[in-house]
Amino acid sequence: MTERDYCEEALLLSGVHPEKCMKCGKCSGACPSYDEMEYHPHQFVDMIAKGQIKKLMESESLYHCLSCFVCVERCPRNVMPANLVEAVRTLRERSIGNDRLKPDDVAALLDEETPGQLLMAAFRKYSK
Ligand code: SF4
Ligand code: SF4
Repeated sequence: MTERDYCEEALLLSGVHPEKCMKCGKCSGACPSYDEMEYHPHQFVDMIAKGQIKKLMESESLYHCLSCFVCVERCPRNVMPANLVEAVRTLRERSIGNDRLKPDDVAALLDEETPGQLLMAAFRKYSK
């Protein structure tokens, strides 16, 4: 899939119409994960409108979003940026498939607080 194809898929999945955005920044201003996110909700809208989804798909911002929907509530144009974050996360997950946790990665994840059972369950679930 091309980057443009991924953008179209994200828009389809999310139901977002980026052309409604008036770039007021209220969504990002209210986002509780602002400091943790490399890309902010208004940037998801703007970048996907410009066909730039690759950087978003590779960003850990996807996992710092709390899915709290504050950005959706604050948007005066009903753009629903959180839906777009969710859609990009879904596309990333799909592109990775089930091959997410390899045996060599497990040792680095172990610490005193992580139950071994949890890692084993994750390994079964996320490896081919
Ligand atoms: S849903 Fe995500 S992007 Fe939107 S305000 Fe909450 S943390 Fe921020
Ligand atoms: S609050 Fe809505 S209109 Fe304003 S920048 Fe965010 S998505 Fe665009």
